[in-house]
Amino acid sequence: MLTHQPNQERVAALVRELLIELGEDPNREGLLKTPERVAKAMTYLTQGYRQTPQEVLNGAVFESAANNMVIVRDIEIYSLCEHHLLPFYGRCHVGYIANGKVVGLSKIARIVDCFARRLQIQERLTEDIAKAIQEITGAEGVGVVMNCAHLCMMMRGVEKQNAVTVTSSVLGSFRDDAGVRAEFMSLVR
Ligand code: ZN
Repeated sequence: MLTHQPNQERVAALVRELLIELGEDPNREGLLKTPERVAKAMTYLTQGYRQTPQEVLNGAVFESAANNMVIVRDIEIYSLCEHHLLPFYGRCHVGYIANGKVVGLSKIARIVDCFARRLQIQERLTEDIAKAIQEITGAEGVGVVMNCAHLCMMMRGVEKQNAVTVTSSVLGSFRDDAGVRAEFMSLVR
């Protein structure tokens, strides 16, 4: 976790410079407050750097004898690609088989955001989430699948508007047991 808080005035000054270099006039009415707004937005969109999964979890881990598969489907994801600082967004499905400990369902979405609100590539984001769930719960297995559209591919580059990138990360029994993995994949499809 980083403790560094972005200096809003400095970020705003940099955005102002960027606007000038892009050929814009930062003094025209529509742009007057843009540098401050961008500073605020970027700080929010990267707040995951200043959080840990433990912190967002806030103790919501409970003892449980159940060891069936728990799946939280269709968690909305909004992140920024680290190559272009452009958004990628989509849906994330998280499943795990508890080993004595379960985590509050709403907290899974909070853990997802803790990693999504950083500069990411989709592959690493998928893995970060799986590892965090594994670490927090000591689950016997974890699976994360994510389907995202990347604005850096849609608005520029190859300009493929309908391409969806699918990534998955499986740990423990989700990796080692083909039956468990197949059950998970069929439930999130
Ligand atoms: Zn990109």
